[in-house]
Amino acid sequence: MKIEKNAAVLIHYHLTDSDGEVIDSSKGKDPLAYLHGHNNLVPGVERALEGQEAGVTLDVEVAPADGYGEHDPELDISVPLSAFPQDAHAELGPGAMFQGPHPADQSRAAMYTVIELTGDEVRCTANHPLAGVTLHFNLEVMEVREATEEELSHGHIHGPGGHEH
Ligand code: ZN
Repeated sequence: MKIEKNAAVLIHYHLTDSDGEVIDSSKGKDPLAYLHGHNNLVPGVERALEGQEAGVTLDVEVAPADGYGEHDPELDISVPLSAFPQDAHAELGPGAMFQGPHPADQSRAAMYTVIELTGDEVRCTANHPLAGVTLHFNLEVMEVREATEEELSHGHIHGPGGHEH
């Protein structure tokens, strides 16, 4: 069958950036199982896979807008070190993550990643780590089948490559 909304799809993927650096890959691992048409993959990838069938391989370039979004400079902020509890200071290295109020809407929460510490300021970002990145996917469709009623009600695929629960 062809990939369409509510199909259970098994794919291998190899994701690189524009410099050919590997960001993520299923090679040498189990393929990924996902429910098509439920925003489980970035929009550019779901669009490219629509109508494909098992055995197809394809190379897809996904612009940031169809991937993890554009880099939003308003989400890059500095927070005074003193705003963090004393016992958290030791853990505030680059890459550390914490939750805080969204810069554009204080009533919402956002997930921040620490970029660097400069003196008594913590530079951090609420952008997705892949925001602003053009994504290069090599995809191989391994299997396409109808999703079960249970999978549809959960919004994801069960079994190998999917949710085990
Ligand atoms: Zn489930």
